[in-house]
Amino acid sequence: MKNILLLWAVLCLSISCQQTNKSQSKSSQKQTTADSVQQKPNAPFGIVIHGGAGYITKESLSDSLEKAYHEKLSEAISKGNEILKNGGSAVEAVQRTINIMEDSPLFNAGKGAVLTHEEQPELDASIMDGKTLNAGGVSGVSTIKNPINLAYEVMENSAHVLLSGKGAEVFAKTRNLTLVDPSYFITPKQLQNVRRIKKEQENKQSNFYTPDLNGSKFGTVGCVALDKNGNLAAGTSTGGMTNKKWGRIGDSPIIGAGTYANNATCAVSGTGWGEFYIRGVVAYDISALMEYKGLSLEEAVKKVIYEKQPQLGGEGGIIAIDHLGNIAMEFNTPGMFRASYLNDELNIKMYKKE
Ligand code: ASP
Repeated sequence: MKNILLLWAVLCLSISCQQTNKSQSKSSQKQTTADSVQQKPNAPFGIVIHGGAGYITKESLSDSLEKAYHEKLSEAISKGNEILKNGGSAVEAVQRTINIMEDSPLFNAGKGAVLTHEEQPELDASIMDGKTLNAGGVSGVSTIKNPINLAYEVMENSAHVLLSGKGAEVFAKTRNLTLVDPSYFITPKQLQNVRRIKKEQENKQSNFYTPDLNGSKFGTVGCVALDKNGNLAAGTSTGGMTNKKWGRIGDSPIIGAGTYANNATCAVSGTGWGEFYIRGVVAYDISALMEYKGLSLEEAVKKVIYEKQPQLGGEGGIIAIDHLGNIAMEFNTPGMFRASYLNDELNIKMYKKE
C-alpha cells in the first residue's frame, strides 16, 4: 500500500511539473512575440497624403494660398507620422491625418466639400486595413462631420462594407460620431463654384456634367501608411465632383477603385475623375500588377497613371506605399497637393516640376 501511495505521489508531481513547464514555455513564447514587436525600433514606417490633383500651378495659386496649403499638409501628415512613430497603427494614422484635412475648407472633403447640382453636400469616404483586408465605405452622406470616421465604423462595427445616404446616417447615430447640419458644409466658395459651373454647363448638349478641368481641380484627400508592425492602410474622403446629379457616386468610397490596401502588396489612394477610376479599378489594378506581374510599386503606379488611365480618358493622381516603405506619388495633371514623411524627413510638393 505504501508503494502504491508513493507511486501515486511521484505521478502527481511529474504531471504538475509538466504543466508548469508547458505554461512557462507558453509565457516565454508570448514574451518572445512581444519582444520581437518591441525589438523593431528600426522597422520601416511611413506615410503619404494627397489633397487633390488638377490645374494646380504656381501661377494659379496666390502666395498666401500656397502657404495655407503647405501648412495644412504639414500639420496633417505630421499628426500621422507622430502616431506611427509612437507605434500606432496604420489605420489610426490614416484616419487621424484625414480628419485634419476634412476639417479644413481648403480641400474637397469634409468642411470644404464641393456641392451637387442642387447645391447640397453629398460626401463619400472609404478606409481599408491591409492586414485583414477589412474595409468600410460611405457615400452620399451630409450630416457626418468626418465621413472617414463613419467609414471606419462601417469597417469595424458593421457586417457591411459600403453604406449609403439615409441608411448610413441612421447607422452613424448608433456610433459615437460628431453630427452636423448639412449647412455646415455649404461654404460661400463652393456655392460660387457650383453656380459658375452650372452656368457654363447650360449651353452644353451633354446630359451629364463634364468636369470643368481647365482651371479647376479635384480636391479629394487621401492617405496611405505603413506602420512599424508592417501593416498597411489606405483612406480617401471627398465631396465628389462639383455639380454632380442623381446621387452620383465616384471612386472614393469604392474599395478597389479609389482606395485599396493589402499587406502583400501596397496601399493606394486616388484622386481624379472618378468614373474613369471606377472603370479602371485603379487602386486594385496597381495591387494586382504587383501581385500577379511582379511589378515594383513605382512601375505599377506609373503604368496605371501614365498609360492605362489616359487611354480611357482619365485624369488624376495616385499616392501609394508598399510594405518596405517604398512610396509613389504620380499624377497626369499639372499638379497634385502631396506630402510624404519617411525616415523623419518631411516632403511637401504641389506642382509638376518640383
Ligand atoms: N475622385 C473624386 C470623385 O470622382 C473626385 C476627386 O478626386 O476630387 O468623386
